[in-house]
Amino acid sequence: MISLLFVMLSALSFSQTYHRYGTLENDLRLLEKTYPTVASVSVAGTSVEGRNLSVITLSRNKTAPALFIVGGIHARERIASELPFLVAKKLLETNSSLLDTHTVHILPIMNPDGVEYDYSGAGKMSWRKNRRSLGGGAFGVDLNRNFGFGWSNEGASDAPFSDVYKGTAPFSEPETRAVRDFINSHPEIKIVVNYHSFGEQVFFPWGSKYSPIKDEAKLKRHQLIAETVAKLTSYTPMQASAPGLVTGDICDWTFGEKGITCLGIELDPREHIHYGHYLPENEIENVFRRNWESILYLVTEAKNVP
Ligand SMILES: [Zn+2]
Repeated sequence: MISLLFVMLSALSFSQTYHRYGTLENDLRLLEKTYPTVASVSVAGTSVEGRNLSVITLSRNKTAPALFIVGGIHARERIASELPFLVAKKLLETNSSLLDTHTVHILPIMNPDGVEYDYSGAGKMSWRKNRRSLGGGAFGVDLNRNFGFGWSNEGASDAPFSDVYKGTAPFSEPETRAVRDFINSHPEIKIVVNYHSFGEQVFFPWGSKYSPIKDEAKLKRHQLIAETVAKLTSYTPMQASAPGLVTGDICDWTFGEKGITCLGIELDPREHIHYGHYLPENEIENVFRRNWESILYLVTEAKNVP
């Protein structure tokens, strides 16, 4: 009894610190080594500075309908890469049988160069974009404005110093090309979720226009999934353009080009005054617990999505 309790508690241990690029690479490989029959790590591409975009795939049947979780698009949003890593760890530790009939692909850090830069200096550089050198002292393309659907001026910036600089062309960045190519080469992906912080919101397309999705069935599907996630997390669901237009984001491309259901989720906190992007590490467990049920729902819901 005591030993069983010990096993259960240790299975529920949480990170004490946020992962950076190096520790994440190590820990993904460790998961692969610990669970070799169900976990495998692949490299979807490399960043501008040559770091791996490592994806861990959890499945015993890789043709099973898949959820693709993308984290760490924006460097300073640390909880948005920690949650995806913890999802991989906890699915393997506690819900492994789910992976007989479902597939989960997880890319915890899509922007490793930005993440490493964000930790430089005093360790909180408030950096968002990748680390593309643009000349004249400007750096970085906003990867969530660089996808090739509705890529335009409105809802993004063509000024290199802007935090929402869209790049010189759609998919000009290796990080967005890697995600595009990964989705293109995995037809079993039925739902894509990208995590951000902060705001406690659940977004669905469109971001690039104010009008709703025209196809009634596809609109209803997005609304239902967003509302269910929102109910399970106590976040707020809305169309992605509700706070203002966003063009070139991952979800508009994923849905607009591929027809795949896609959500963008802004994690805790709700407001900037509560830590903003730099959620304290002792909050990691709370955010995980708040989101866990919604993730199990998304994993299984992938099977119900056409
Ligand atoms: Zn973000």
